[in-house]
Amino acid sequence: MADEQGLTPRAQDFSAWYNEVVLRAELADYSPVRGCMVIRPYGYGIWENMQRALDGMFKATGHQNAYFPLFIPMSFLEREKEHVEGFAPEVAVVTHAGGKELEEPLVIRPTSETIIYAMFAKWVQSYRDLPLLINQWANVVRWELRTRLFLRTAEFLWQEGHTAHASEAEAEEETLRMLGVYREFMDDWMAMPPVLGRKTESEKFAGALRTYSCEALMQDNKALQAATSHNLGQNFARQFELKYQTVTGGEDYAWNTSWGASTRLVGGLVMTHGDDVGLVVPPQLAPIQVVIVPIYRSEEERTQTLGAADQVAAALRAQQVRVHVDARDTVKPGAKYFEWERKGVPLRLEIGPKDLERGQVMAVRRRELEGLARKEPLPMDAVATLVPQRLGEFQRALLEAARRRREENSYRGIESYDRFREIVEGPGGFIYAGWCGSAACEAKVKEETKATIRCLPFEEFRTPEAPTRCLVCGGEAKHEAVWDRAY
Ligand SMILES: [Zn+2]
Repeated sequence: MADEQGLTPRAQDFSAWYNEVVLRAELADYSPVRGCMVIRPYGYGIWENMQRALDGMFKATGHQNAYFPLFIPMSFLEREKEHVEGFAPEVAVVTHAGGKELEEPLVIRPTSETIIYAMFAKWVQSYRDLPLLINQWANVVRWELRTRLFLRTAEFLWQEGHTAHASEAEAEEETLRMLGVYREFMDDWMAMPPVLGRKTESEKFAGALRTYSCEALMQDNKALQAATSHNLGQNFARQFELKYQTVTGGEDYAWNTSWGASTRLVGGLVMTHGDDVGLVVPPQLAPIQVVIVPIYRSEEERTQTLGAADQVAAALRAQQVRVHVDARDTVKPGAKYFEWERKGVPLRLEIGPKDLERGQVMAVRRRELEGLARKEPLPMDAVATLVPQRLGEFQRALLEAARRRREENSYRGIESYDRFREIVEGPGGFIYAGWCGSAACEAKVKEETKATIRCLPFEEFRTPEAPTRCLVCGGEAKHEAVWDRAY
């Protein structure tokens, strides 16, 4: 696989394209352990920017970070029946350590509800200790057989928020607040606008009362569940004796919520914005927002253009722009353009002798977007103010393009099951249709088409004219549902 070779076009084989982008943009690599991945510095830089943004939003909504152990006693997982049934098939278990068989096997956390609520039970005595609002940044292990870099790996990085409240209403409010935080992050930072809604009983988190999710539409028209937020009710509190003294002196179990987003978001970013050239990173999350390429032939030109590049870089850094000067002598400008485009750097500034004469730099956007020129000369003395503006425009245009694509690939008012199958088995996309609420109808569709109900969308996403009939059985529709095949 020559490095200069083009990528497999998306239209030809989306999944091959995805793997090539991830590998060649140096986001991640396969690991010696099957199903695991190595996140390379450039990919980790994107994840760090995601972390930083989300962490700030969690703290602004009153949460604190803490850390709980990687190992969980097997008996903890077994206490919540639905929870253990949901996770048992993919759990990795440590049975030996220190050369001896352990008295009790230890589960490597697939998620941390059990161990965290066991600790909460020690810390919470009265209503005055509530709400308790904790977040953890950690790795988790779910032994998946079929894995994809970032999208589904046996070990992945994530954050899991865990909270305890004095009432169901407060827990529900928290569950929805954090779903809103994810949405804001996906809109404003990732430019990946999600559809929000509630999961059905069969799709909800194992052990939750209700699960809500952010569903994003990828360029191959498959859905990506990008984040989830769960109202756990009192299910875990009962199993872990997480009780508190109420205002009136009585005793009650606390109400819990949990919510999470993972390195899967990096995969979502690739599949939302990438093109046949490679990755496109939204400026807000780009480890390098601007790359400066000096163009020169002689030593004298080299000194001049490199000097100008360093000056522009310093002016941009003073504006908090993440900038890199590609001063390599061993690589030709054309090859540099190619490399940084493949890595998705939003804006490139070219500085050659002619540009210096004219007192300008040539700005080139990573991708053509509606209303924005791909190339544009910027006056050298205005670069420090214009570049941050251009990055902001690019960010907004990416969001608009993604929203337009999502709506162009959404189908509403679908009443015939044949038509539904035609779409699912053809172009794919978000299909809005009526559902009677029965698990049998849901299962039949999954069995026959591999499409699932992604969510029961919130009102703002629903079709103005609500469907009246179930897509599958023709019975009365209780909900409008969004269906699609998913990652
Ligand atoms: Zn039905």
